[in-house]
Amino acid sequence: MKYQNFIIIISGVSGSGKTTICKKLIELDENLYYSVSVTTREKRAYEIDGVDYIFISKEEFLKKIENDEFLEWAEIYGKFYGTLKKPIIENLSKNKDIIMDIDVQGKRNVERNFFGRVISIFLIPPSKDEVIRRLKLRGDLSKEELEKRISLIDIEMNYRWEYDYWVMNDDLEKAVLNVKKIIDVERLRARYIIEF
Ligand code: 5GP
Repeated sequence: MKYQNFIIIISGVSGSGKTTICKKLIELDENLYYSVSVTTREKRAYEIDGVDYIFISKEEFLKKIENDEFLEWAEIYGKFYGTLKKPIIENLSKNKDIIMDIDVQGKRNVERNFFGRVISIFLIPPSKDEVIRRLKLRGDLSKEELEKRISLIDIEMNYRWEYDYWVMNDDLEKAVLNVKKIIDVERLRARYIIEF
């Protein structure tokens, strides 16, 4: 039996725990491939180039746009972020499901390219105060970056209406298990079984 693999998109406001949840999920589920994005933003001290992001200059990013290397890309908080086509196509052909931590602009573009093969999940933080507390605690953002991200929380939260699922992230382990449940149930949907 062959089943149609799919793309899981995780979005949420800055500080909602998307990256942490994605990392935990790939440890739990060997059939998942985490899409490593390319970005022009500065690397944070704890991040590893090629693992968390592929960090490149703006010039290199523009060149990749010109060469049509991106499945989607967007400008977010004044920096560029993009998903490379090649690893996505390669891993889909290996029958892996793909997990992406991208924003709403990326979600819309990926849905256009992979119509009917995308499951979108929006992470809901317990409260606005809690998001601000987490962002400040992280201590990895400049004052300006922090203010920009805080000022966009309300706007970004409104995008949740475009998503298939909402997962509350008040308890990390519970949130990871809920995302895992969604993925497992989606794998059982009849529309994904294409051959036997
Ligand atoms: P951060 O700088 O906090 O790692 O990420 C900022 C925002 O960029 C987050 O909302 C994250 O989901 C989004 N993002 C990360 N990679 C990509 C990407 O490849 N494409 C798009 N559209 N958004 C991305």
